[in-house]
Amino acid sequence: MSDCIFCRIVNKDIPSKAVYEDDRILAFYDLEPQAPVHVLLIPKKHISSLDALQPEDTELMGYLMLKVKDVAKELGLENGYRLVNNCGEDGMQTVKHLHFHLLGKRKMTWPPG
Ligand code: 5GP
Ligand code: ZN
Repeated sequence: MSDCIFCRIVNKDIPSKAVYEDDRILAFYDLEPQAPVHVLLIPKKHISSLDALQPEDTELMGYLMLKVKDVAKELGLENGYRLVNNCGEDGMQTVKHLHFHLLGKRKMTWPPG
């Protein structure tokens, strides 16, 4: 989708600092980090949100989830981390391309804001 920021990042129309990439997913540093480590993991396929997932996305989502720990290890998050998905209006999702925030290198708080 040409009007989607993350599709444009996937297509390299917008630069990003990648930490992992293959044919199905991309992980790159967030522009406005909320923790010392703040990376976004996205499927390269445009899926607007968690709520828009279809049964045919099952394998892709499982693949992405299993990559989280590899990326976390690569980034030195051996003491733990938080994985966040903001979905829809109440979830405060701002970019309408499914993404997971991987946050680490600080102690998180609960409940989230
Ligand atoms: P959301 O609020 O939708 O869960 O998260 C969107 C995230 O994308 C935000 O943390 C924001 O900082 C990040 N973001 C928005 N535009 C860009 C961009 O052009 N490049 C990068 N690297 N991150 C972006
Ligand atoms: Zn997109």
